[in-house]
Parts: sequence; structure tokens; C-alpha cells
Amino acid sequence: MKIRSVRGTHDIFGEEIDKFKRISDIVSKNAYLKTFKEIQTPIFEFSDLFAKPLGEQSDVVLKEMYSFEDRNNEFLTLRPEYTTPMIRAAITNNLLNDLPLKIFGIGPMFRRERPQKGRYRQFNQINFEILGTKDFLADVELIFLSNNILKELLPKSNIKLYINSLGDKNTLLDFKISLSKYFNTHKKKLSEESIKKINTNPLRILDSKNEEDIEISKSSPKIYEYLTDEAKKHYEDIKRSLNLLEINFEENPNLVRGLDYYCNTVFEYKSDNLGSQDTLLGGGRYDGLIKVLGGPDIPGIGWAAGIERIILLMESEKKIKSTVHIAVTNVKFADYYLNLKKYLSENRISYYWNFKYNLKKSFTKASASSASHVIIIGDNEFNGNFFTIKDLMTGEQKELKLNQIFNYLNDKSR
Ligand code: AMP
Repeated sequence: MKIRSVRGTHDIFGEEIDKFKRISDIVSKNAYLKTFKEIQTPIFEFSDLFAKPLGEQSDVVLKEMYSFEDRNNEFLTLRPEYTTPMIRAAITNNLLNDLPLKIFGIGPMFRRERPQKGRYRQFNQINFEILGTKDFLADVELIFLSNNILKELLPKSNIKLYINSLGDKNTLLDFKISLSKYFNTHKKKLSEESIKKINTNPLRILDSKNEEDIEISKSSPKIYEYLTDEAKKHYEDIKRSLNLLEINFEENPNLVRGLDYYCNTVFEYKSDNLGSQDTLLGGGRYDGLIKVLGGPDIPGIGWAAGIERIILLMESEKKIKSTVHIAVTNVKFADYYLNLKKYLSENRISYYWNFKYNLKKSFTKASASSASHVIIIGDNEFNGNFFTIKDLMTGEQKELKLNQIFNYLNDKSR
């Protein structure tokens, strides 16, 4: 029998290990600058630790944990996330006497998910937590920190920060009831997966990737209307601070976190260049969790980022070699062209256009230059909201949506 590795796991060596070390160094440097203390916890814990707070309806508990029975009838679980073990460690080691506690950790997590690009069964996370303060400035500090780290690691990548507020526990309860009602009236159009969640975990329908679900979620009740004055102020203070720090963000009212204990601030960084597993980092406030785990009733907030996904983006930053020539057939497509131009600049893809609305002349110019591809903007493209991209070496022609262009060119550069 040939020995092989387990599906969804991977060995890290060569260039990848260098990148891994670079990431750890930059994370540690930023952590120490902002006085976070490192903590390492065991990779397995008692299963109860995760089952309790993650809630019976959470996907992680339902199907993704690696759990096993130890010899003395004890159930153990390989950690699927870092927040809970970190809090457990803070309680066990009496670290909560001097608050706030600012801690971070880097290490492997385990989830029995369907493996694909950017999704593994053993993967590595960076994790930051601040325990023991409700102050909005703690939320800002953590977002600021994540922004600094990602900018330093991925200076050329087009990464977007999305934020939302989930309000307090009561807000969330009221909101869930309205959501369930709304989704019940649109049940017929929802995916099978989402129908199962209508009454148990309707928030999760909001972050479904199914196109029909997304369409229905667009007109669903919005949490902002349910927020208390206090929660609104918390959220507004954060937005004002982010603007002051010149951190770009976009509000996404449908942004939720999978687990029940999240409240108030939630945030996520996404990149179009990661394929379907497009979330690089996710975080939020979890007042109430520490108490559930047997600690004092103090609030907390944290975030986690996937190292493998950061490495994927680091690789793509280096690789794009294509030069694109743009062929615009009519001046009426100026706005459509500008959109493409913005996308190409944001993704550091070099491009050229000769300002001549003539397909033939554009191709002649492109062939005479060192362009590898031509992107055509004509009636078909404009009406169908796509771009035709032609590989000048092979003659291959493809119709792509704007956000597919980077991955297409990146795959070609490998
Ligand atoms: P989560 O705890 O699910 O919010 O995940 C936080 C971050 O960890 C995500 O944004 C990803 O970057 C990364 N991540 C989560 N699950 C996986 C996985 N199965 N494989 C690789 N990275 C993952």
C-alpha cells in the first residue's frame, strides 16, 4: 500500500515555509508594538469546551469537528477555532485579574470541511483577542491592527474591509424573529440548505453563497433598524474612527458571523482574487462568551485570519506578468472602460489603450507591442456586463466577468 497524506492536509516546505515564517515575524512584530502577549494552547481540548458556546445549531459543531473518545471515556476535540481555547487558557491560568487582557496566537486549526482551493482540513490561523473591555476603541484597535498587518504582508493586493453591527443580545433575538418571518414567506425560492435554517439559525442565510438566497437576502429586514441607541452609538463611533485613521471600509448589512455569541461589531476582509473561499480574515465582539465558558461576565472581541489564504495572495502578487491592451469600440462605453481601468489598477495589472475607437487598429497596436492579452469592450460586452479577453499567444478567447479577470491572468502566469 502506498502511503499518502490525509485529504485536506498539506505539507509546508520550500518557499511556502519561508512565507509562513515571514508572516509569523510580521504578526509578532505588530503584536508586540501594540503590547499583545503571545499564548499557545494545546491543539486538543475537552469536546464540551466547544460544544457549549458554539451552540447546537452551529455548522462547526454539527459536522466539522474532529472529535474522538480517549481511553478513559473522555471526549476530546482538535480545536476548530482559537477564541474558545484562548479564553479557556486565560481562565485556567488566572490571567483575567488584570484587565484588559490582550493576547494573540498562531497555530493549526482543524475542521472537517470539503477541501478546495483555500479550504483545508488542517490550516493555520492568526488570532488576536482583547478581553475585558466594552470600549469601542478596543474594536478600533483590533481593526487597525489587522489593517496594518495585511497592508504589510500584502501591499499590492486589493483587499476590502466590510463591517456591520449586530447590536446586543435582545436586538439580535428580535431581529432573528423578523428574519425567520421574512424567509418563511419566501421559502419557495430558498436553497434547501437555507430552508433548514429558517427557524433555527436565519442569520446564516444572510451569508449563503447560493445566488437565489443572495437575491432574497437583498430585501430582507436590516439589522440597523433594530439597533438600540447605545449599539448605534458604538457603531457610529467605530465608523468615525476608521475614517479618521483613513481605513477604507464598506458597510455590509448582511454580514453576520456564524456563531451565536457574536454581538455589536462584526468585520471581515475579502479579496476577489481568492476564488470562492474569499474571506481572508473575520472578527467580531462576543460579549457573553467568557461567562458561558465559566469565567467572569466580561466582554471580549477578536479576529482570526487564515495563513494559507494570505500565502495564496502573496503568491499571486508576485506572479501576474501579463500586459493588457484595451480595445474600446465606441465612446459610449467610456464609463464601462473606466470601471475596467479601475479594476486593473487596483489589481496591479499593467494595461494600455491608444484612445482609438477602432478594433482593428487596437489589435494591430497590441500585436506590435508586448501585450499578452486584449480586452474588448463592444456592444455585446456592454449589454451582457462581461469582458471578452483574447490571449494573443494562443488565440484563445474568453468571456469573463470583471472580478474573474485577475484569476484568469494569474493562472496564465503560473
Ligand atoms: P473563521 O473562524 O471561520 O471566521 O475563519 C477565520 C479565517 O480563517 C478565515 O477568514 C480564513 O482565512 C481562515 N479559514 C477558515 N476556515 C479555513 C479552512 N478550512 N481552510 C483554510 N483557511 C480557513
